Amino acid sequence: MDSLPFHGRVGIVTGGSRGIGGAISSLLAKEGGTVAILGLPEDRARAQHLASRLNGAAPRLHFYETDVGIYERCREAVAAVLEEHGRIDFLVNNAGITRDHTVRKMTIDEWEAVLQVNLSGPFFMIKAVLDAMLERGYGRIVNISSVVGVSGNFGQANYAAAKAGLIGLTKTVAREVAKRGITVNAVAPGFIDTDMTKSMPVQAIESAIAQTPEQRLGKPDEVAQLVRFLLDDKAGYITGAVYNINGGWYM
Ligand code: NDP
Repeated sequence: MDSLPFHGRVGIVTGGSRGIGGAISSLLAKEGGTVAILGLPEDRARAQHLASRLNGAAPRLHFYETDVGIYERCREAVAAVLEEHGRIDFLVNNAGITRDHTVRKMTIDEWEAVLQVNLSGPFFMIKAVLDAMLERGYGRIVNISSVVGVSGNFGQANYAAAKAGLIGLTKTVAREVAKRGITVNAVAPGFIDTDMTKSMPVQAIESAIAQTPEQRLGKPDEVAQLVRFLLDDKAGYITGAVYNINGGWYM
């Protein structure tokens, strides 16, 4: 088991019980990593279900109830992971929500909720883990942005603004910690087959597929493989980068 690439590594995946986050936490646990899934109360059962499908890797998945939109909760969760597992090698800021409406119809609550989870959440989490990473002179941070953070998208002003902001946050933190052994990168998926896309109108999905050169939705595991690559020890010279993974929807 010692030969598994992530053996001995400990890290956090926010919203890691389903969808893209579920694929990332499963892959890392299967490769030997100890993964702390941070999620809302509903995610506890989902995280247990995920673990039940992982056989030998199941004991490496741990759930910490955390709303990433609240800084104090993020700090508490990080402290608990450090207390229980002794170190944090990687952080994947994956948790995200949508509250779609055109700007004219978007409520202030919808705007603020998306900014809080999708942009303040990653900032809170990075702030919470950074001292532990700096102390050890090692860290891998991957932020899950979105293609619409680069392209914009009808009806998603809040989401696109948060995901664009996340790219700015990624590049800034990357510059601040590059000399200290910590890399910070963003992954910008296109349309991926998860509950998030299932909640979109069928017509919107069909149109997204029609506009995608590969003519299909992406799979959560395809995003997980890219994230895993960026979390590897060997990816130490990649920082401040934004990786598109969208079947050619945006080039
Ligand atoms: P899902 O909706 O399937 O999963 C999102 C996860 O985030 C859920 O586990 C959810 O918990 C969790 N979450 C939501 N709010 C919070 C919170 N405040 N605190 C902690 N956890 C929270 O989404 P996807 O897997 O589709 O998306 C994952 C990431 O990828 C998101 O950041 C999304 O914006 C991004 N992305 C997705 C794309 C897609 O096409 N699917 C495309 C581009 C980017 P709960 O289940 O309790 O709600």
